[in-house]
Amino acid sequence: MTVTLDTPLTRFPGVGKTRGEKLAKLGLLRAEDLVTYYPRGYEDRRQHYTIQGAPLGVRICITALVAQRPRFSRIRKGLELVQLKAADETGVLHLTFFNQSYVEKALQVGVEYVFFGAVEEQGRRRSMVNPVFERADRPLATGRIMPLYPLTAGISNHLISSLTQQALPCAGQLPETLPAALRREYQLAGLEYALNHIHFPADDRALELARRRLTFEELFYLSVGLSLLKGRRTGEVGCALPSRPLGEFTSLLPFAPTSAQERVMREIAADLSAGRPMNRLVQGDVGSGKTAVAAFAAWMAARGGCQAALMAPTEVLAEQHYRSLSALLAPSGMRVGLLTGALSPREKGEIRRALAAGELDLAVGTHALISPQVSFRRLALIIADEQHRFGVAQRAALADKSGTGGMPPPHVLVMSATPIPRTLALIIYGDLDVSVIDQLPPGRTPVATYVVGEDKRERMYHFVRAQVALGRQVYLICPAVEDNPQAALPGEEERSPNLKAVKSYAARLQREIFPELRVGVLHGRLRPREKEQVMAAFAAGEIQILVSTTVVEVGVDVPNASLMIVENADRFGLSQLHQLRGRVGRGRHQSYCVLVTSTRNPETLQRLRILSSTTDGFHIAEEDLRLRGPGDFFGSRQHGLPQMKLADLTGDTRLLTQAQQAARFLLQQDPHLTQAENRPVLDQVRRLFADTPDIFN
Ligand code: ADP
Ligand code: MG
Repeated sequence: MTVTLDTPLTRFPGVGKTRGEKLAKLGLLRAEDLVTYYPRGYEDRRQHYTIQGAPLGVRICITALVAQRPRFSRIRKGLELVQLKAADETGVLHLTFFNQSYVEKALQVGVEYVFFGAVEEQGRRRSMVNPVFERADRPLATGRIMPLYPLTAGISNHLISSLTQQALPCAGQLPETLPAALRREYQLAGLEYALNHIHFPADDRALELARRRLTFEELFYLSVGLSLLKGRRTGEVGCALPSRPLGEFTSLLPFAPTSAQERVMREIAADLSAGRPMNRLVQGDVGSGKTAVAAFAAWMAARGGCQAALMAPTEVLAEQHYRSLSALLAPSGMRVGLLTGALSPREKGEIRRALAAGELDLAVGTHALISPQVSFRRLALIIADEQHRFGVAQRAALADKSGTGGMPPPHVLVMSATPIPRTLALIIYGDLDVSVIDQLPPGRTPVATYVVGEDKRERMYHFVRAQVALGRQVYLICPAVEDNPQAALPGEEERSPNLKAVKSYAARLQREIFPELRVGVLHGRLRPREKEQVMAAFAAGEIQILVSTTVVEVGVDVPNASLMIVENADRFGLSQLHQLRGRVGRGRHQSYCVLVTSTRNPETLQRLRILSSTTDGFHIAEEDLRLRGPGDFFGSRQHGLPQMKLADLTGDTRLLTQAQQAARFLLQQDPHLTQAENRPVLDQVRRLFADTPDIFN
């Protein structure tokens, strides 16, 4: 069979309809898909030993003759055993297979196989458990570095590797995508070489070369894509809003802005009046006063006769912004509206009509704001609050929401409290200019933070009563909603048998611990209306203790709340705890954060104590990254970037820097990748961002 890139896998020997469907589930339909389906790891099958000569405990190959018919036995339901002996000239190897009954038929007496596994020894008896094996006269894996592929039920690693081996000859038909000059400059292997050796590396060096080339390529396309995204906007004409004296706005504020707030407002003002679309990120730790900065931008838009939209990641937050922004801006004559999923269809219709008619100056809402049914009369500015919840794609969708009547593309302002380590920021915000509010409003006393064990629970409840007696309010955060930790948090129930579940815990607190106080419950499964009511009641002081999941994590502002208690605190990341802690210490009262944990693990305790020793969000984020690794930092795919196959966005820093440099250089030469030789790059970038529509259109 001659294989071309387009050969369907069902034409490969051994792939029928069923297997074909299973392969399709992995995205494998044609030969080309196999060639670009990279291993997730490797197994070194180059070490070959005799039975007696084999070292113990490491996975190695042994060639041996099956000396005995395999014996099948069922120990009990769910535990089947196949046992046999194999031999070479140095001795006997006892083989045991658990729950692999097919082995009984697969291994034939008198035939030589290569067994790959770890040898164990009891007395003089040498054995291997669950080795993988292949016939010695038809070796595929033996003697090489074997690829390990991501699999699915019914598809073995052996199948994928042998199919890939058959498909690889067509790798040469794939056009080289990286420009030759760039390959020379960064000493990158050719595509065909890289593809061959990423699957079946000749040796360690070949593997390293292959991986470097393909990883670089991925990071390069990512960088090019993000630069195009940024460049797409810098070339555009934006709506030039007239500058106004800053004092006109700050006189609306109930406080004097910090000098950091003022500096950022000036940066924004410069952007908004420059005639180019703004694309700016404002980073500021919790409580640094980002809302006032957002209000300023919206105010400038309204003063210029245009509309602004502010998107928040949750309904609770949208409603809160709506309340505080209307209070702040209405006195200047601005008309502010709220659009969330919680509104009735009639209310929604009315807000949409008013927006389209230009009767509202500022719309506050959730994702509902970017739905296609919403149109604006003169939209000049889009603000996204707590930006890490919005991906690159949503930002692009926002930016595409120009108004009717020939409005230029809107200015985009994103605000984030999540301090992001530099490498990640480079990628995630590669398309943005950055302003930092690096100062907290004056008079803030740092939130006193304590890590306590279960033995302090009674004292903690006393402390709650004492704070409420002073007129303060309390947040109490739990990790789960229902009383079924297994459903809420797979695999965690053993480690944290007392996982506090919001609903039942709140009920118990009200009944048994604080019968004299008003306890409220807030979690993500409430209907938007209910959430709104609870939040409003808490803001109004009607609820004294708010038992909640992390839905209050971002942005909620109730200055009278002075105590934040986090149950099962070890379940959370440091940055997340820092965000939670930011919900208190917002008023003039001394505030407290109590992290409750039943863990005795010294490392976990040490990790939590970092929070009692510092209030610097960036420092905390870095510790978090160092201790927990990058995987947890954002949760999966929250950043909305295309999926990388090989590159680790936080680990491959050096390669990333090089790839970004290469991308910059290429785009200097050919800003829109219109030259024929760069066409393949553009195609690859489009492909990479294919899951992220709206970016390149
Ligand atoms: P974040 O940056 O976390 O969004 P907010 O904008 O919610 O912070 O502000 C936190 C609190 O600080 C609010 O109660 C706000 O009114 C107050 N605040 C903001 N700026 C100042 C300032 N310059 N002086 C005093 N209080 C301020
Ligand atoms: Mg905020």
